[in-house]
Amino acid sequence: MKILVPIKRVVDYNVKVRLKSDRSGVDLDNVKMSINPFDEIAIEQAVRLKEAGVASEVVVVSVGSQGCQDIIRTALAVGADRGIHVLAEDGIEPLSVAKTLKAVAEQESPKLLLLGKQAIDDDSNQTGQMLAALLHWPQGTFASEMEIEGEELTVTREVDAGLEVLKMPLPAVVTCDLRLNEPRYASLPNIMKAKRKPIDTLDISSLGVDTTPRFTAVSYAMPEQRKGGVMVSSIDELIEKLKSEAKVL
Ligand code: AMP
Repeated sequence: MKILVPIKRVVDYNVKVRLKSDRSGVDLDNVKMSINPFDEIAIEQAVRLKEAGVASEVVVVSVGSQGCQDIIRTALAVGADRGIHVLAEDGIEPLSVAKTLKAVAEQESPKLLLLGKQAIDDDSNQTGQMLAALLHWPQGTFASEMEIEGEELTVTREVDAGLEVLKMPLPAVVTCDLRLNEPRYASLPNIMKAKRKPIDTLDISSLGVDTTPRFTAVSYAMPEQRKGGVMVSSIDELIEKLKSEAKVL
C-alpha cells in the first residue's frame, strides 16, 4: 500500500511574523521556513504504518517554489521514501492545491492520502476536504487515532462534544490532528541517507490544473497589542474596576 503525504512549506511556528509595509501580506525576507507542523504528524503516521508493515511506500509531495525542496529533504530524512515537488508560485489557493494533489494522486494511485488538518500560515483547513470531494473518496478529518485492517480504515476524530469513530473503505483521505502522534527528529545518518533519495520535479503547468485565483486578499493586520495588567489591592477595588472600567458588572 502506497501512502501519499502532501506537505506545505510555512513560516516556522517559532517565528514572530511581520507584515509588509503595505499590509499586502507577511514579510518572508530572511524568515525561517519549515514543514507545516500538522504535516510532520502526517509524515510520522505514514512512516509508522510502513514500519508496522501496513504500508510499502511513503511518498511526500509539496506544491510551491524552489524552497519546497528543503522540506521534502527533511521528510525524506525522517523516513519518507521519495519526494515529488510540483513547482508553482507560493501562496496558491487551497482549491488549486487540492486540484493539483488530485492530479498527482491520479498518477501515483495511493491507497491513503495523509494530510495535516490545516496549514498554520493561512489556517484554511480546506485542502484535505476539497481533495476528498474532488477524488470522490471518503474522508476522516482531525484524526487523533487511526487503524487499518485490510481494506478498512477506522479514524477517531476529536469533535467538540468528545470523540467520533468513523469506519471507511480505502482509498481515503485523512487529515491529522495534534494528538495522533509525536513526530521524531531526523538523525544525522538519516539526513545523509536522505540526500540519495529521489525527488521528482514537475511544473504545475504540466498537470493541466486551472489555478485561476477565486479571491483576492484585501489587507492584513497584526492583532491588537494587549494592554498590561493592573494589580488591585482589595476585592472591593476589583469590583469597583469591573463596574466602572470593564463594565461587566
Ligand atoms: P490548508 O487547507 O491550507 O489549511 O492545508 C491543509 C493541508 O493541506 C496541509 O496541512 C497540507 O497537508 C496540505 N497542503 C496545503 N497546501 C499545500 C501545498 N502547497 N503543498 C502540499 N500540501 C499542501
